[in-house]
Amino acid sequence: MNQPDASAIPGSTGDSLSADLLVVGGGIAGMTAALEAAEAGKTVILVEREASLGGRVVSSNQYFPKLCPPTCGLEINLKRIKANPRVSVFTLAEIEGISGEAGNWSVTIKQKPRYVNMRCTACGECEPACEIEVDDPANFGLSKRKAIHLPHLVAYPFRYVVDPEHASDPRMKACVDACPYDAIELDMQPTTVSATVTGIVWATGWRPYDATKLTNLAFGQAPNVITNVMMERLASRTGPTEGKIQRPSDQKAIAKIGFVQCAGSRDENHLPYCSAICCLASMKQATYVREQYPDAEIHLFYIDVRSPGRMEDFYEKVKADEKIHFHRGKVGKITEGSNGNVILHAENTVTGEMKETEVDMAVLATGMVPNTDIDPPPVETPRDDYGFLAPNGSGIIGAGTVMRPYDVASSVQDATGAALRALNAAGGR
Ligand SMILES: Cc1cc2nc3c(=O)[nH]c(=O)nc-3n(C[C@H](O)[C@H](O)[C@H](O)COP(=O)(O)OP(=O)(O)OC[C@H]3O[C@@H](n4cnc5c(N)ncnc54)[C@H](O)[C@@H]3O)c2cc1C
Repeated sequence: MNQPDASAIPGSTGDSLSADLLVVGGGIAGMTAALEAAEAGKTVILVEREASLGGRVVSSNQYFPKLCPPTCGLEINLKRIKANPRVSVFTLAEIEGISGEAGNWSVTIKQKPRYVNMRCTACGECEPACEIEVDDPANFGLSKRKAIHLPHLVAYPFRYVVDPEHASDPRMKACVDACPYDAIELDMQPTTVSATVTGIVWATGWRPYDATKLTNLAFGQAPNVITNVMMERLASRTGPTEGKIQRPSDQKAIAKIGFVQCAGSRDENHLPYCSAICCLASMKQATYVREQYPDAEIHLFYIDVRSPGRMEDFYEKVKADEKIHFHRGKVGKITEGSNGNVILHAENTVTGEMKETEVDMAVLATGMVPNTDIDPPPVETPRDDYGFLAPNGSGIIGAGTVMRPYDVASSVQDATGAALRALNAAGGR
């Protein structure tokens, strides 16, 4: 179900919705919280800002440690959501206002227009007719997409969406004419929906640290310095190169690559904390390179390797590859070398020895920043110095990476507990 009318939610009447739980953010944490509550018999409103559920895991190529595609887990969750009439999903929606207290919250949901109605079958006829091309934000500008597009291959809802800034462009008329189902409505308007809920889970997730702030590491200056999230897209079959890992500047194959750990992390000038997943993400990405280039030399520079608990097995497995070289050292500077190469300047943190390593391409392991640092809940909610939500027994309950940098398994565990805590805080009503 998506964008329901009030009567579609059990217990709702008239123009106002009511549900046991509001979950804000439809990534893996938000979907988990919504499902756990709904499968325990509670009614849930799930509000997602983007045009589809899934969050950041959608743009991953594979998950560590098993190296399976994230679409597997996503499809299972989507199947559960589609099958559960107690979950009402709003995409392209945000929370405008919250008042009240646990047990009796009033919320206002702002619904942005999709410009594509329920008749859309995702047949794709509109896309070739669209003349407007934009840098694809899902691929961090490494490729283009049309102004009307399907968010991704397992999108839910499985419907096209029009970029709001192009909805009034006269060139979009060609898409309307090309649609065999009369599904494109360029005059759709935003709407506002009121709801009362007893508990609220906030799961609005994370974004990558802005690598342009790392001027010493040449991001944005040297084209062959990319970030870890860009690497996920390069390696993905749905990414800008259909999965071929190659240098952005000249599409050269990779013979030598460098991974720069703690790019901005554990650094008082940037992110003072450790994002916990970056070492594992780089090791995972080293396996992507190895799969495509059996002879490539892979250099990983670290302050210390963080692979907690059972992840140590994954570290041991990656370390067994003789051409993956782990260097204890912090990369303080990246400069451009010859023929598009980049040079990593690192200091061994134990011996103080300086080392220069020239590679075809460097990947910056940038950390995770909670979206709640700039976009907190619109009601007083305690946060720490970095914008993560503080554990909170009675108000809005955070879930997943708004609480701390988590991997998927930990986000899922945290979200399950959050759903329970939010319903408990509401007095079990
Ligand atoms: C390079 C890299 C590789 C990684 N690889 C792995 C891996 O292999 N295995 C693994 O276990 N973990 C991995 N992770 C971690 C994984 O991405 C996170 O654990 C996961 O994304 C956390 O999910 P989440 O739901 O908390 O947040 P998100 O995925 O960020 O989802 C949050 C959702 O909330 C929505 N939202 C944001 N603001 C609002 C708002 N105001 N209103 C409504 N909705 C909003 C967003 O659009 C999004 O859909 C990796 C991380 C990085 C940086």
